[in-house]
Amino acid sequence: MLKAWFAIPLWQRVIAALILGIIVGYAWGPGAESIKIIGDIFIAFIKMLVVPLIFFSLVAGVASIGDLRKLGSVGWRALLLFIVTGQIAVWLGLAIGTFAQPGAGIDGASMQIDQAALERAQSRQEEGVTIQQMILEMVPSSPVQVMADVNVLPLIIFSLLIGVGILMAKEEGEPVLKIFESGSVIMQKVTMLVMELTPFGVFALMAWVAGTLGTDALQALGQLVVLNYVGCFLIIGVIYASMIKFIARLPVIAFFRGIVDPMAVSYSTASSNATLPVTLRAAERNLGISNSVASFVISLGATINMNGTAMYLGLATLFGAQAFGVDLSWGDYFLISILGTLGAIGAAGIPGAGLIMMVLVFGAVGVPLATIALVAGIDRIMDMMRTTTNVSGDAAVATTVASLTDEIDRAEMISADDV
Ligand code: ASP
Repeated sequence: MLKAWFAIPLWQRVIAALILGIIVGYAWGPGAESIKIIGDIFIAFIKMLVVPLIFFSLVAGVASIGDLRKLGSVGWRALLLFIVTGQIAVWLGLAIGTFAQPGAGIDGASMQIDQAALERAQSRQEEGVTIQQMILEMVPSSPVQVMADVNVLPLIIFSLLIGVGILMAKEEGEPVLKIFESGSVIMQKVTMLVMELTPFGVFALMAWVAGTLGTDALQALGQLVVLNYVGCFLIIGVIYASMIKFIARLPVIAFFRGIVDPMAVSYSTASSNATLPVTLRAAERNLGISNSVASFVISLGATINMNGTAMYLGLATLFGAQAFGVDLSWGDYFLISILGTLGAIGAAGIPGAGLIMMVLVFGAVGVPLATIALVAGIDRIMDMMRTTTNVSGDAAVATTVASLTDEIDRAEMISADDV
């Protein structure tokens, strides 16, 4: 029985749970609220992951910049492209969310959950937090306290500082770096374990949404899924295609033909890490990128370059804000754009990582974490497309950097037909 369960790929179990949850919720009605606790347990486990995941993976990520310096021109160009495309992606998510208003169809107030968070957010808005206060709150005056409170902004600052400290300590910092690298691998495994709860959490949450919030909520969620796909398609079809055409000056069709394999694998696994070997192979064999550039840019990209995730973090934050009637100022948009990029950098290349990073962005701008309960049920379908966007972005940046540094065999890329 157990064997048969695990023999089915996780994503199929999740999709089945989603459909079953909606049916059961409809049939059951408001009584479905009673099984929401299963979804809450799932989300509580997700929250458990936030602090250690951010701490380990950001420190290890920053410390890996030591290699960037060695790679000189390739490293800086890649890093610049990662950051610029990440920023464009979050703003795209914010623009889509602002115009389409996907969360407007949900009456968050009727959910009567997370009231405390909502009140905190409202009072924060009424009081009008000053810039001085915001800056002061970002200083991790007590790192342990910051972790205990799951206060992610100062946690990020603390992690970045530790990463820089490790870099500055050179050889003496290496043992600690090893601990962080191994810690980040361990946290990814723990996340995989938690993700095994997804089918149960998704079933309960969808039943609850369908049973208590009804068709409007389902429609709003459907709209969110569609917008997530629209955003990802725009990133791939406009941003990456322009990068290949205008910066790398290479044929766009040949590029996409060359990455069909990693796109397909990333869509079905929802994991940039799991797709890494396939992306590397496609970069070298189909796109003609030199081994040194491909292995460096693509493996770094698999951990820090996640434009699909960045776009989604922007979009989902607006979804939550609209559902719960939280007004966001331009300052909040700006904060979301920075945290969305940082969240995408901090997100591990594994299924569901984007969902975990929502805690980071939501907490900072006062969007109730209950939003996570709303969207967790449909996260997997969106995750698949986010991951395809993330992986295509790694290949696009590698191709562009390789072209700029003359590390690409143009003839091989254009003629490659073994896809
Ligand atoms: N699953 C995505 C990836 O591996 C991350 C995310 O959840 O957004 O790239």
